Amino acid sequence: MSDTAEGSRPPAPNPVKNIATPTSIARHGHESSQIAQPSTFLSPAQNRAMQDKPLSTVDKDQQSGLKAIRDFLKIRTSYDVLPLSFRLIILNTDLLVKKSLNILLQNGIVSAPLWDSHTSSFAGLLTTSDYINVVQYYWQNPDALNQIDQFRLSSLRDIEKAIGVLPLETLSVNPTRPLYEACTQMLKTRARRIPLVDIDDETGREMVVSVITQYRILKFIAVNVVETEMLKKSVSEINLGTYGNLQTANVDTRVIDVIHLMVKYNISSVPIVDEDNRVLNVFEAVDVITIIKGGVYDDLTTNVGDALGKRAEDFPGIYTCSEEDRLDSIFDTIRKSRVHRLVIIDEENRLKGVISLSDILKYVLLHGAEDG
Ligand code: AMP
Repeated sequence: MSDTAEGSRPPAPNPVKNIATPTSIARHGHESSQIAQPSTFLSPAQNRAMQDKPLSTVDKDQQSGLKAIRDFLKIRTSYDVLPLSFRLIILNTDLLVKKSLNILLQNGIVSAPLWDSHTSSFAGLLTTSDYINVVQYYWQNPDALNQIDQFRLSSLRDIEKAIGVLPLETLSVNPTRPLYEACTQMLKTRARRIPLVDIDDETGREMVVSVITQYRILKFIAVNVVETEMLKKSVSEINLGTYGNLQTANVDTRVIDVIHLMVKYNISSVPIVDEDNRVLNVFEAVDVITIIKGGVYDDLTTNVGDALGKRAEDFPGIYTCSEEDRLDSIFDTIRKSRVHRLVIIDEENRLKGVISLSDILKYVLLHGAEDG
């Protein structure tokens, strides 16, 4: 990344733990909005004039970079993303929910495909959302703790019904199909990961091959598409991420209230800020797994500050960027580190926005796509 000023950030004025700053902390620009004014639709002549305006070199490069990524995604399949050797942990739906938590933690994973051995078929993907559903069920039925202890993965559907949420995701893609399809499926369904399910040639039965995540796809692009270097427009210029109506909490907020926020707004993380809106940390949906391990639902009422203080030593940290950072440097960061989101901050560490991997995938796939 050419313009990285790693290490140039002034010492954090707050107890930020493990905050990783992959990109430069530069001057912040304006907060742009995607709202189309009515006049946009009322003045075709003006629109034509705008369309006819010659594109700058940066614009042209940006378009070429995006086109190269899309072309690449159309000729590669989901199989291509998989490493030569990998492990796949599939959980039987007869397993107790609390045991599944331990298995995920012991193996350092946050999701797993489910297998129904009674019907010998794929039974959906277990993700942090399912544990969040169990938490909500417990919150609504605190007297049912003993019963919750006996829940098996097969009961997750009943829990969903009881708390009135959408059923467990059973979506999957065939790994021989173009990667582009997996990406569009992810955007359509807002799934952050999709299981790859193929049909066994000999038995004709379903076979779970692996799970593909947004991070894996973006890293695959970052490693293989050199044209990502052409994406020189800044985060604020392309309006990448979310800037308005940001959901935040502070260190004193109860864990359960942060979980409610994530469910209400369908977001996978909540920045933790101080009274001056400076970013101290980020609570992530995956943190729920550690908090409820061993069936300790009492910790849901502890505050976020304490809960995040118990994170494992090897917690990779949170990633920040400024509004001036460019998409090429974000791809560079994705190539080097396992990034799940970037928190946009200004030079005072104040929260400006959030860029999630789905924002990047959406931009890469859809921005100006109708122009070819
Ligand atoms: P994610 O859940 O991270 O995949 O994000 C889904 C969408 O919500 C993306 O467009 C994000 O930019 C946005 N988003 C993520 N976190 C927040 C937050 N704390 N407040 C508001 N929007 C968010």
